[in-house]
Amino acid sequence: MNETQLDRYLSSLPLSSIRYYDTIGSTNDEALAWASQGAPDLSLIIADEQTKGRGRMERTWFTPPSSALAMSLILRPTNIERAHPARTTGLLALSLAESLLKLGLVPQIKWPNDVLLTNRKVAGILVESTWTGSELDAIVLGMGVNVLNASVPPADQVSFLATSIETELGRIIERAQLLRDIVIRVLDWRPNLGTDSFLESWEGCLAFRGQQVQVERGCGNPVIGELDGLEQDGSLRLRDEHNKSVIVQFGEVHLRPVA
Ligand code: ATP
Repeated sequence: MNETQLDRYLSSLPLSSIRYYDTIGSTNDEALAWASQGAPDLSLIIADEQTKGRGRMERTWFTPPSSALAMSLILRPTNIERAHPARTTGLLALSLAESLLKLGLVPQIKWPNDVLLTNRKVAGILVESTWTGSELDAIVLGMGVNVLNASVPPADQVSFLATSIETELGRIIERAQLLRDIVIRVLDWRPNLGTDSFLESWEGCLAFRGQQVQVERGCGNPVIGELDGLEQDGSLRLRDEHNKSVIVQFGEVHLRPVA
């Protein structure tokens, strides 16, 4: 991936500004800094390699050179996004899932922020924001996608098995083209973020639906139940052994199937 290729795939899209880096600490860090310096809506950062790629809670996201898609898109929040902040993680997850579906793959969203192929993690999403006092200034939609095999971390360094698009598809795809597909879908879904159609599409891609799952939270006992669907605010709904709804909110949670 280089600037010429990116330009070929992205130039017809209504992005405000694009910054490309051969290597960077973290695309989200750069995007947060750029947002606080006034980056306009739909500014995009892409890197070939991240040396300090981050997951949630400062966990490491592995992004070796020339093999992954690492991107962060800055949104200046609309009223819809202000009203549905948690749905923005779904916006990026669903946009990637639909792009993978178009390639003939069967993606699933491991709520809240991962995308799976054959039950292995192919991408992680990290949504962060900047605030002025209590006013939401910018939302950064960050994502790392394992495109080539070389982007998959060694098995002893992950808490959930990982895979790449190359492994699952049996061929290599152009990272810039995948990025274009994802951005097109983000732009299409964005005005519809508040609709039931968005929620249903997001829900339709959930991994482990109808299966027994366990959700570990930072504190307290794990919640166990059948994965039922999503609430309006993007929270996860399980059904416990008494067929009672149990709602799990966005946050420091880890979803796992019950073996
Ligand atoms: P979990 O997957 O355990 O539910 P999580 O979704 O909260 O956790 P994140 O914080 O989003 O995980 O992502 C960081 C974790 O993802 C790392 O701790 C590591 O286990 C794993 N990881 C890091 N880099 C990659 C990668 N390129 N592909 C797949 N998994 C990765």
